[in-house]
Amino acid sequence: MSLRANSSEASSASKRNANGQEDPWEVALTQLKKGIDALGVSNEIYEMLSVPNREVHVELPVKMDNGKIKVFHGYRVQHNNARGPYKGGIRFHPQVSINEVKALSMWMTWKTAVLDLPYGGAKGGIVCDPKSMSNVEIESLTRRYAYAISDIIGPYKDIPAPDVYTGPKNMAWIMDVYSILNGHPEPAVITGKPLEIGGSLGRSDSTSRGVAIVAAEAAKKLNIKLKDARVAIQGFGNVGSNAALILRKDYGMKIVGVSDSKGGIYSREGLDVDKVMKEKERSGTVTSLAGAEKISNEDILTADADVLVPAALEGVITDRNAEKVRAKIISEGANGPTTPEADRILHERGILLVPDILANAGGVTVSYFEWVQGLQRLQWTEEEVNSRLAEKMVKSFNDVYEMRQSHKVDMRTAADMLAIKRVSDVMVIRGIWP
Ligand code: GLU
Repeated sequence: MSLRANSSEASSASKRNANGQEDPWEVALTQLKKGIDALGVSNEIYEMLSVPNREVHVELPVKMDNGKIKVFHGYRVQHNNARGPYKGGIRFHPQVSINEVKALSMWMTWKTAVLDLPYGGAKGGIVCDPKSMSNVEIESLTRRYAYAISDIIGPYKDIPAPDVYTGPKNMAWIMDVYSILNGHPEPAVITGKPLEIGGSLGRSDSTSRGVAIVAAEAAKKLNIKLKDARVAIQGFGNVGSNAALILRKDYGMKIVGVSDSKGGIYSREGLDVDKVMKEKERSGTVTSLAGAEKISNEDILTADADVLVPAALEGVITDRNAEKVRAKIISEGANGPTTPEADRILHERGILLVPDILANAGGVTVSYFEWVQGLQRLQWTEEEVNSRLAEKMVKSFNDVYEMRQSHKVDMRTAADMLAIKRVSDVMVIRGIWP
């Protein structure tokens, strides 16, 4: 394990990765600079925030089902903890890279600050393809990772959570390893756990609920009627599918298009979300649903709809397709789906974009509720969780919207400004030691 405190070797990455996508760390730095400049905060704050506090690289040997040992690479990046313990998910994906994890860790710092949660920001990731691994292999990998980072996590240090292709099961294994190593059960070391071991009611669909709440707030600002407003969703994993369900059932919106990595479907009359979910569970993709028009995973972003929810991976709305987006509202379920150039285009076109650090913060907000319940050994009702979540999301949406109005900036810059201000104020008050 190598520890690099305040690494100044930031990134020597080129602006685009092998897939032609913009490098997420470059994107994160561009956003930080824009926010710092708009706020007029000192360059010293930029220098401190433009490098993570700590970057941990781990090598993880796992005995695979065929008896052979395979070594996986993992990361945990702790960006900033001025406002509270580091907080952020762990991602399992073949395309995980250090620059992606660094960007995601910085976005967590802003996300917890925008929601005014007493946390900093971190992110973890393992380069692996969980779809091609057995349950036993995934368990061994998760446990070995938990062991490898066990001395830098903890209920008051760094509290991991699920992210892309990880869920309650992985969280349970991490809680178990940490608890064994520390000699007592410690539910508050991790969030997104199964209910039986201290998970929170309402956590599993909390990110989607947040995405829906802010989409509805945005619609109010634009005087768009919620009933039958048309929604297109890219990504039909936990976030995308639950967002579809909540937007349809709780807000009466019409889900006209959805997609997953294999492609998408579109129906002018609206899709039956329950049916789409069943089909996804049955065949592994939404594309096999009978009776809907086929559409590609990219074209879903420019489909005819009032609200667009990108809920897959980063870097999908770019300077190549931003001109063609037809939605009036974008609620970012994924982290980093829009590049800075696309942001500029969308803003000029008058599209109201609710940025990831606000739109998908429902997950970490209910993680916070889970952590509080864990520390106190209490269990709140689902109603209590959901109503506290709604209160926090609506307040944060309005804080960001006010910043947008008063500084005449786009919503992302407004959210970044609010977050950077909250973090830098604390850094200045706490000072530098030694
Ligand atoms: N992975 C989620 C996110 O990106 C949740 C993080 C958390 O609950 O700590 O916001």
